[in-house]
Amino acid sequence: MSGYDVSALRAQFPILEQEVHGLPLVYLDNAATSQKPRAVLDVSRHYYEKLNSNIHRGTHYLAQEATAAHEKAREKIATHLNAGSPDEIIFTSGTTDGINLISSVLGYSGRIGKRDSIVISNLEHHSNTVPWQMLCERTGAELKVLPVHEDGTLELDVFHRYLDENPILIALTHISNAFGSVLPVRPLIQSAHEAGALVLIDGAQAVPHLSIDVQELDADFYVFSGHKAYAPTGIGVLYGKREHLEALPPWRGGGEMIKKVDYAGTTYNDLPFKYEAGTPNIEGALALGAALDFLNEIGLDDLHSHEASLIEHAATALSAIEGLKLYGPHDRAGALSFNIDGIHHYDLGTLLDQMGVAVRTGHHCCQPLMARFGITGTIRASFACFNDEGDVQRLADAVTKGARMLR
Ligand code: PLP
Repeated sequence: MSGYDVSALRAQFPILEQEVHGLPLVYLDNAATSQKPRAVLDVSRHYYEKLNSNIHRGTHYLAQEATAAHEKAREKIATHLNAGSPDEIIFTSGTTDGINLISSVLGYSGRIGKRDSIVISNLEHHSNTVPWQMLCERTGAELKVLPVHEDGTLELDVFHRYLDENPILIALTHISNAFGSVLPVRPLIQSAHEAGALVLIDGAQAVPHLSIDVQELDADFYVFSGHKAYAPTGIGVLYGKREHLEALPPWRGGGEMIKKVDYAGTTYNDLPFKYEAGTPNIEGALALGAALDFLNEIGLDDLHSHEASLIEHAATALSAIEGLKLYGPHDRAGALSFNIDGIHHYDLGTLLDQMGVAVRTGHHCCQPLMARFGITGTIRASFACFNDEGDVQRLADAVTKGARMLR
């Protein structure tokens, strides 16, 4: 940790060099999308300047080089997540896409019927809610929602009650995007498995902040988006245990997902290509590989300690502001969320922007969670490797000043 050089890291993000409304930019909206370091931007540019070609089946030099680079990126991701094999890494367009893939193929599999249930939590992003709702509408299965306590932690007694009813699948976020709270996913997965349920973990907010070991977690499926972890938009990953991905039917048809097409019937490709129909986001995959290299170079433990210390300082500074309420438990990673009595989150967020501080306001795609707390939204400050104590101070000063102006 002593080697953590935040100034050097900051210098790697060209976008941070600009001023916004005449003030140096404080970017605290990383949970929505992170900024991109030069190492990632260079890989994207290099791909289009030197490698651009469609992958697989190409006989020419560029096609072969691009294919090799794409598959090398898959290997990097497998290593980063400690997947059993690169075949268990499916490229998607993002977290939403990965969840829709699994919910759709579970539906196609014919395994889900009227007597079945699927469990999600009240903390889930709409992307980890609506696909399951749609699957339940199609199959007649029941969607059960795990409630949260006032402090934002899961009601574990209800979880165990739901498990007694033998759900087919539990879909949970690893870190809440609305509150920044970290869920104890390892023991939850273990209990779910003992009850015979599959588990999908939404790692959209976890991959940028924590070291992830899918084998240690024993998750059946783990999904995330590149763009929240220093990579571009339009690329994401679905990790799935080989046994499940092999047993489940394919999803979208066309392109690389076939072995042989005949009007009498098509034979589908082996993993991972079975789930990758159409030309993939090749540059995105390479850039995601570079983003994970970038994260590993910082070191996820050091990064986590740095961000945790910023969040703790921010929580302490903000708590001193009259009428300010922080949401979620103390065990946060990446983000913290708050409101101030009598002040609309949007109004304060707009003032913060005018003071050069970029945060997110609103429901954070968690409307049912907001409804649970009787609010329409919060102000969320979310951190990345380049944020420093100066950013925390600018946030606290801007919130103090903004609140004074709005009272
Ligand atoms: N799940 C969580 C926890 C998220 O924070 C987000 C994005 O904010 C998503 C899912 C959806 O990610 P994407 O829009 O990249 O598919």
